[in-house]
Amino acid sequence: EEMDEAVRNRRRMAQQMREALDQGQFSLNWQLQAAVDTGDITGYEVLLRWIQPDGTFISPADFIPLAEENGLILPIGEWVLREALTQLRRWDAAGLPPLTMAVNLSAVQFRHDDLPELVGRVLDEVGMPAERLELELTEGAAMDNPSVAITVMNELHARGVQLSIDDFGTGYSSLAYLKKFRVGKLKIDQSFVRDLTEDAEDRAIVDAVIRMAAALGLQTLAEGVETEGQLAFLRHQGCQAVQGFLFSRPLTAQAFAEFVLAQVAATSAAAPLSAYAL
Ligand code: C2E
Ligand code: MG
Ligand code: MG
Repeated sequence: EEMDEAVRNRRRMAQQMREALDQGQFSLNWQLQAAVDTGDITGYEVLLRWIQPDGTFISPADFIPLAEENGLILPIGEWVLREALTQLRRWDAAGLPPLTMAVNLSAVQFRHDDLPELVGRVLDEVGMPAERLELELTEGAAMDNPSVAITVMNELHARGVQLSIDDFGTGYSSLAYLKKFRVGKLKIDQSFVRDLTEDAEDRAIVDAVIRMAAALGLQTLAEGVETEGQLAFLRHQGCQAVQGFLFSRPLTAQAFAEFVLAQVAATSAAAPLSAYAL
């Protein structure tokens, strides 16, 4: 009985996801990334949102695993990429600072033969240079089949796309492979950041990751930074960038653009908000 129920639920959810894609129920949120030393905005991450017609919010942590299982992550991921790049182009036209945009990539997308070509095609279609795009790949996805991962990373790198490893520390990284990966940045998983001020082991892990990354010539960004105490520790250890509620929650496109412009205005004699056509 229970198994039947579970199967029916997943089928219903899969059907709802298809409808969501057709009916425009997906949207994107934007969360800024900031430099630890200056607080300047260095870039932002795009986060997928699903709000059903009755207002129900479904977390990506809940629906993405299912979309990976039934393959819907491929059209959904392509939609995210196109939509995000289109927004990026609009913001460029409106005069926002030319920041780098990070888009999450599922392991299923990453394993798909067509990925580098697809990314190139969407960039061309939208008319954005590859250098502005960073793809976040989880550690698990990269380590699943490292030799294939190296090939795909090389192809993306050759096209000019930047790469980072997401949720670093939660997978099983072989350090031998890490040095062969064409990534520029490690994103330290928020599970290590959460208790940074209380937990000596988390501090030791984060410290070790930052040092190792520096030795390999990689940048580090800490995820889920919520407190000044966490930030102070990260700054002291030499972590370059942070992302988290301390700076900003993920925002809608409009709210994000206003946030960025307010920040720009605060640090320079820039034009007032009303001068930008958002
Ligand atoms: P992620 O890529 O590691 O994204 C960071 C998550 O941490 C986001 O959750 C974000 O809202 C949350 N977060 C940011 N700052 C803080 C903070 O200070 N404290 C806390 N507690 N949380 C913070 P979200 O948006 O629910 O996304 C969850 C995961 O779903 C993402 O983790 C990513 O793995 C996946 N995801 C989201 N959008 C996409 C997408 O477009 N494609 C794919 N394949 N996966 C996505
Ligand atoms: Mg991410
Ligand atoms: Mg993460």
